[in-house]
Amino acid sequence: MGDLSKLKTRIVVVGGGFGGLYTASALEKLTHEDPTVEVTLISRDNFLLVTPLLFEAGSGVLDPRHVVSPCRALLKKSQFCEANVTEVDIANRVVKAVHRSGIRNYEFQYDQLVIAVGGITNRSIIPGSDLAMAFKTVADAVLLRNHILDMFEQADIETDPDHKQRLLTFVIIGTGLVGVELAGELNDFMHNLVATYKNISMRDIKLVMYEATPNFLRELPQDLAAYAREKLATRGVGIYMEAPVNQIRTDGVVLKTGEYVPAQTVVLCAGVAPNPLLASIQLEKNRGRIVVDAAMRVKDHPEVWALGDCAVIPDPEGKPYPQLAQHALREARLLARNIVGSLKGQTPIPFVYKNKGTLAALGRYSAIGRVLNFKLRGFPAWFVWRGYYLLQMPKWSRRIRIMIDWALAVVFKNDVAKMDWITDEQLETLGTQGAKTAEQNRSGQSQTESAPKTPATVG
Ligand SMILES: Cc1cc2nc3c(=O)[nH]c(=O)nc-3n(C[C@H](O)[C@H](O)[C@H](O)COP(=O)(O)OP(=O)(O)OC[C@H]3O[C@@H](n4cnc5c(N)ncnc54)[C@H](O)[C@@H]3O)c2cc1C
Repeated sequence: MGDLSKLKTRIVVVGGGFGGLYTASALEKLTHEDPTVEVTLISRDNFLLVTPLLFEAGSGVLDPRHVVSPCRALLKKSQFCEANVTEVDIANRVVKAVHRSGIRNYEFQYDQLVIAVGGITNRSIIPGSDLAMAFKTVADAVLLRNHILDMFEQADIETDPDHKQRLLTFVIIGTGLVGVELAGELNDFMHNLVATYKNISMRDIKLVMYEATPNFLRELPQDLAAYAREKLATRGVGIYMEAPVNQIRTDGVVLKTGEYVPAQTVVLCAGVAPNPLLASIQLEKNRGRIVVDAAMRVKDHPEVWALGDCAVIPDPEGKPYPQLAQHALREARLLARNIVGSLKGQTPIPFVYKNKGTLAALGRYSAIGRVLNFKLRGFPAWFVWRGYYLLQMPKWSRRIRIMIDWALAVVFKNDVAKMDWITDEQLETLGTQGAKTAEQNRSGQSQTESAPKTPATVG
């Protein structure tokens, strides 16, 4: 008997986000009666993160586990491999991956390859960006919440007014969709926190946003963006446009004007950079992202496809589609059909999608949004926002958990318990390091030189 695996068409999908997971799931549905097709999904995480709900995980309104859905819940027949892809060998049609323990390597031979590895936080624009916090993953959300609570814990007993101000200054860099939604949610969170911390009032808190360009919330119509800006400003958020940050330090930021803003918390929301894996893949790129045709296929390698944030997919006018979940989801369904069609000798269909709208939550039961030709603001927009993103979460078992979290958040104020993922032994080591740092500070070394990275980045 010959080797049966050679008779199979092996489709390997890399990345379990909106693009990759939905491609694998659609492939499964389209080929469920075909035993000759084998689908393998490889992803670093064993879950899909529903990013629009991440803000509420960052404030503790939602349990972090409830903003993700296990990949395996959407896959019945496909093979799933939780591993970090380290190499894609286009010439030999092999994907190489390593388990996060580092001790187990995997190699997957493919006949058809789908690349959907998304992007990363853009740390290449501003010097010192490695010192800032990001807001892209579940870990980012948990770390940010812990860090904010840590700032409140310290500030509540701080007697030095300057240090207290630095602890209670929160800088967000970037006024795009992510920065604005984060500002709205954090402002709400902090409003709730002051009820628990006796020595902190809203007047002590400085939540500021810096943006290099004149564009506030460029993803939405400008009248809605103006509404959002005014809402945040009246709630006390400082918004500074055309105010580029020139440097990020452990103890604050320096603006282009030379002004130094002391702050113990800096969150970088200045866009998406290409996933570093892409640089090593021998395919044509445009600004680091994979160039594909309108059907999401690589021109010189018809067995390779790419979608989502890591691909440049041209619209009918030749402009690239935006890096949004609503696009990645729809690209995935068509890409799966295109692969199955191409195996039968059919010509792949170009992806054509007209954005149905965009929504942005602003906190305190308010949002803004364009849905088809309608513009929404305030509570109705917030209601649509919640309903729409609830339905983006696969499976009702998760949706019900989210609804319970939302209901509980109305009744109870924010929980201030930190969720440090840190063992007693690590705490002991940190305590010793902290004592040394305090001693160095007392003996005259500057805060900038001696301060460890923010406590939130440890662990
Ligand atoms: C906070 C936030 C809020 C957002 N809000 C909205 C919104 O409201 N509406 C909207 O439409 N869009 C929103 N977006 C954008 C949206 O999340 C992305 O456009 C979308 O997730 C892109 O899907 P993707 O599959 O291309 O990438 P991702 O969803 O980023 O998925 C990439 C996957 O690849 C995996 N991966 C990466 N590298 C490797 C590797 N080397 N090996 C193995 N696996 C790897 C990752 O673990 C991940 O599972 C938001 C983004 C963020 C960060």
